Amino acid sequence: IHTGQTMDQEKLCCSVCLDLLKKPVTIPCGHNYCMSCIKRHWDKEEPKGAYSCPQCRKVFAPRPELVKNTMLAELVEDLKTPAIRPASADLYFFVQEHELSSS
Ligand SMILES: [Zn+2]
Ligand SMILES: [Zn+2]
Repeated sequence: IHTGQTMDQEKLCCSVCLDLLKKPVTIPCGHNYCMSCIKRHWDKEEPKGAYSCPQCRKVFAPRPELVKNTMLAELVEDLKTPAIRPASADLYFFVQEHELSSS
């Protein structure tokens, strides 16, 4: 029932630092990274003059401008809000216990 939340959490993780996105930015291929992670990655590629996506290896030139993805930033904030998580965790354990006792 609550797999939706886990999926969201994965989508909101940066594949460079494997943590929740900090200042999420979306690059032209549609992948999301922390502003600082993709900046660092592209700084390393600066001498080549070609900027690749760490996830799908798509190459961009010139270096795309990074714009903060406000919608994703809000989703990350929601995930970090402690008020949301304990409530759904309780519900999850309740369902588990209920399933165990009925079998
Ligand atoms: Zn990151
Ligand atoms: Zn990509």
